[in-house]
Amino acid sequence: MRNYQIAVLPGDGIGPEVVNETMKVLEILKKLDSTLHMEFDTFHWNSEYYLQHGEIMPKNGLETLKKYDAILFGAIGDQRVPDEVTIWKLIMPIRKQFNQYINFRPVKLLQGIASPLTDGGDIDFVIIRENAEGEYSNSGGRLYPGFEQEIAVQNTIFTRKGTAKAARFAFEYAKRNRKRSVTSATKSNAIIHSMKLWDEVVQEISEEFPAIKLDSYYIDALAAYFVSRPKDFEVVVASNLFGDILSDLGSAVVGGLGLSPSANLNPEGDYPSMFEPVHGSAPDIAGKGVANPIAQIWSAALMLEHLGRADLAGVIVDAIERVLLEKEVRTPDLGGTSTTSEMGTAICEALQQILLVKEGNA
Ligand code: NAD
Ligand code: MN
Repeated sequence: MRNYQIAVLPGDGIGPEVVNETMKVLEILKKLDSTLHMEFDTFHWNSEYYLQHGEIMPKNGLETLKKYDAILFGAIGDQRVPDEVTIWKLIMPIRKQFNQYINFRPVKLLQGIASPLTDGGDIDFVIIRENAEGEYSNSGGRLYPGFEQEIAVQNTIFTRKGTAKAARFAFEYAKRNRKRSVTSATKSNAIIHSMKLWDEVVQEISEEFPAIKLDSYYIDALAAYFVSRPKDFEVVVASNLFGDILSDLGSAVVGGLGLSPSANLNPEGDYPSMFEPVHGSAPDIAGKGVANPIAQIWSAALMLEHLGRADLAGVIVDAIERVLLEKEVRTPDLGGTSTTSEMGTAICEALQQILLVKEGNA
């Protein structure tokens, strides 16, 4: 069995708080499953590090991370440090240089959670967000700063290749998971260059998958459909910006940011993939010990799945659902008064129960 090497970057704000609970879960798993070999190295490359060293990670930071099998990331962002540093000098270089061109975000209503939108039934789809190009580019600039004539230009970069890779990932995922449809988010009526290329390429790729239906909606309408008929979606594919916005919306539809995991995937596996919650560092609740650790713990489950242990990923999600169904434990975002650590501990206990029963049956 492989011994997986995991780099852990807790980050800022609630990042370290929720990562701490995730480590409790992973340590229990290691203890209970003797076939899981996993070692962790923690790197405190965050805003505090930046304030001390003038850079958010060492010069050879990416070289160091490259050697790992996966990266478990908390969240980054601090009022004292501009987002240009936290986002553009840490998260973006990791996503871009490690070719993590897919951002994979499950939108699944967990058992025990009430959606603000439905009185039951399944909301269970995934958002596949193009993660390496599109609207999030640093191409552009500002002229005449501060003058009345000031202009800002922000370029959007779509390539045929990048769009095709995102679309193909979506269709292959749909096929593998026996889904009937892929929904594409577009805005080619108003954004007539980049989004027309997007439409064309998604259409071309869809023709390779005749059993899967392609639905294409304008992003504004699609946002409304997320609210009015969230049960209809199976796989949603979107550009970087649209996918980002849709995933926070999707997250609200199934109970909030405290419950939403994500994976930045390098599907070829030539570089490590990175697993992090959809949420940020939540400065409004940081330091209070009340953040919901489920999004982070579920992100670790996605990491195990990526590493070939879908069985253990499933056990983690089962343990989360067991707590939500059977226990009174709820963090404030879910309407309760439990702490981050109480939630983490409850999930560890549920995990223990599930795995011990399995062992007993074996
Ligand atoms: P945020 O996701 O940090 O918080 C939005 C709201 O959701 C807040 O009210 C927060 O308290 C709540 N929330 C988030 N996670 C929660 C959890 N686990 N449990 C309970 N409540 C939770 O978004 P924001 O406030 O827009 O951004 C804060 C900082 O995080 C900014 O600096 C931003 O740039 C950064 N950010 C980083 C990432 C990342 O690390 N990938 C992602 C998004 C935002
Ligand atoms: Mn976001």
